[in-house]
Amino acid sequence: MSKALTRQATLDLDGRRVAVRFLRNRRARRIILRLDQGLDGAEDGVVVTLPSRTPPEEGLDLVRDKADWVLRRLDDLAPRIPFADGARVPLGGVDHVIRHTAEKRGVVRLEGCEILVAGGHEHLARRLRDWFKGQARDRIRPRVRDKAAVLGCTPGRITIRDTKSRWGSCSAEGNLSFCWRLVMAPERVLDYVVAHEVSHLAEHNHGPRFWRLVGRLTEDMDRSRDWLKRHGEHLHRIG
Ligand SMILES: [Zn+2]
Repeated sequence: MSKALTRQATLDLDGRRVAVRFLRNRRARRIILRLDQGLDGAEDGVVVTLPSRTPPEEGLDLVRDKADWVLRRLDDLAPRIPFADGARVPLGGVDHVIRHTAEKRGVVRLEGCEILVAGGHEHLARRLRDWFKGQARDRIRPRVRDKAAVLGCTPGRITIRDTKSRWGSCSAEGNLSFCWRLVMAPERVLDYVVAHEVSHLAEHNHGPRFWRLVGRLTEDMDRSRDWLKRHGEHLHRIG
């Protein structure tokens, strides 16, 4: 298991400031670099995994050595789309425009292809994040129930959170967790992820029997998996 070090650093690479975060992993044989798309407003940067006795300074040296690679990868990232008035963000795979309205009460509502957000400007991003989470919950819960019923399984708790590395997960106790950002993806993609996690209630592996179950619970699963591979990362750039 990797353990996060509290230490962070900022490096200047060719005039660009790059955030560096460290992880300690006892099993790592060498220093490992990977790109880190900061979440919820955190900066993009690099995660440096250090073997047990390697000092962070050696990690920083490696980042400097690989500056070209790091900068190229950062440039390849899709642009960030913060939640703001006028921004275009997808909901169910369809572009919607965010509109900040003058009403005082801080509610969010959907009108055609616009998402109207009232209340103080400074709360807009948080309010929208909460709203998107609520939308995700509303769209995921009934699907979990219906699909679990098809398999004759009973799901445990359903949690909606902001997970970076996985779209969903299923614990040994049958508790399911989903990333709220799925609600931005086309509906069939969200449906696939629900089918995937619900199938884990019956099969705790990724064997042929598991994939047969997923295929029973959702249509076009190959296309949905392909969509996530190609566009999934973009969803983490929004909001
Ligand atoms: Zn799985």
